[in-house]
Amino acid sequence: MSPTKKVLVIGCGPAGSAAAITARKHGVEVTIVDKAVFPRDKCCGDGLTTSALRLLQQLDVRPSSMPSWREIDSAQLRAPDGRNITMPFPEGIGLFAAVVPRTELDIAMRDRAIAEGAKVIEGLSITGVDQSEDGVVATLSDGSQLNADYLIAADGMWSPTRKIVCGESASPYLGEWHAFRQYLDAVSGPARDQLFVWFEPDLLPGYVWSFPVGDGKVNFGYGILRGGKIAVGDMGAIWTDLFQRPHISSALGSGYTPLDRRTAWPIPAMIDKVELTKGRVLFVGDAACATDPMTGEGIGQAILTGMLAAEAVAEHVDAASSYAKSVRAELVADHKMSVFLGRILGRVRGTNLALRIVDLNSWTRRNFLRWMFEDEPRAIVLTPRRWHRNFLKRPGAHLGK
Ligand SMILES: Cc1cc2nc3c(=O)[nH]c(=O)nc-3n(C[C@H](O)[C@H](O)[C@H](O)COP(=O)(O)OP(=O)(O)OC[C@H]3O[C@@H](n4cnc5c(N)ncnc54)[C@H](O)[C@@H]3O)c2cc1C
Repeated sequence: MSPTKKVLVIGCGPAGSAAAITARKHGVEVTIVDKAVFPRDKCCGDGLTTSALRLLQQLDVRPSSMPSWREIDSAQLRAPDGRNITMPFPEGIGLFAAVVPRTELDIAMRDRAIAEGAKVIEGLSITGVDQSEDGVVATLSDGSQLNADYLIAADGMWSPTRKIVCGESASPYLGEWHAFRQYLDAVSGPARDQLFVWFEPDLLPGYVWSFPVGDGKVNFGYGILRGGKIAVGDMGAIWTDLFQRPHISSALGSGYTPLDRRTAWPIPAMIDKVELTKGRVLFVGDAACATDPMTGEGIGQAILTGMLAAEAVAEHVDAASSYAKSVRAELVADHKMSVFLGRILGRVRGTNLALRIVDLNSWTRRNFLRWMFEDEPRAIVLTPRRWHRNFLKRPGAHLGK
């Protein structure tokens, strides 16, 4: 009988927990290390796409374990020319979008990994990695060492593991997007219950969002593409101005109060260019720059890459090359399609025209929303190997139903 494989996962966000749950399901011994002590917040919009929901269901992560879980049945979009579009998700065939604060999602995923048999070490960070032909030895901040056959680096945008094993870059990578978010309480306008996305002409291809998280609270934020017409340094002033814009302030209503502090974080989106593996180290999630370059959504991509890495470790002799191959097959065409579409959305006329087409009839409204929320891969039309008979007809996730 061959010895049990061991994997060390650095980072216990969606990517790390998805890797751990999947590896455990394949009988691999798993230890996760995270520098944070949970519950820990992560600067995020808290929105879950259809693809993220389906993957969570596959991993058996249940909404009932997340008290603030909120199901979304429609989206309110505003075009740069002021056109407002209400777009419904299909009814009665499962869930296509949900919102849940990351403090709750990440704990629910961690707990699922523990229930599957993963060991979790919190409050320690990785400080060193030694690799040999047979395995890896990681050093932690208390000086202890852990050995494993493979290391899955799920340690986010700044990935200290990447810096350790690939070397510091002279000009640090700052992500493709930069986004601000804050929770608002006592929201009295329609944003209290409805999901809003505003395509503001000055922010394109960036956008402003308000996602309801229950009890009158919303996750409010906006993101911009780095290197575009807005400098990251100007984002604070724009933040203040957003609340004065009539359509935004009327959606929020009067009397809301900001909670905690406003936070900002970069969003990495270049999975087609980044090194996905280095020896026995496999990078996943934000550490693999896996977010969607058009929307900045990355939870679904983090879960997917975590699962692919764990499957590669469990099932293949050369896990690194098989992981890189599966990422290319699952994500790279979609990434390129999103980059292309992002260029169209970068122009006011392009976004206005696109949203006018979207608003043609109930079929276009419903199906555009499904596609935008990753019900199907972005580039499915261009990748015949992924075609199936139920294009845009599949049920959503049945979590919580
Ligand atoms: C403002 C904003 C809004 C967003 N909104 C959305 C959204 O609505 N929907 C969506 O799908 N995506 C959204 N994203 C993207 C999403 O947040 C990320 O893609 C996602 O969190 C990536 O998950 P991850 O597991 O790869 O990394 P993370 O969630 O960042 O987890 C990394 C983990 O690694 C740990 N870690 C870091 N360094 C070390 C170390 N040295 N040792 C040990 N552990 C370490 C951290 O403590 C952390 O727990 C948003 C991003 C931003 C910035």
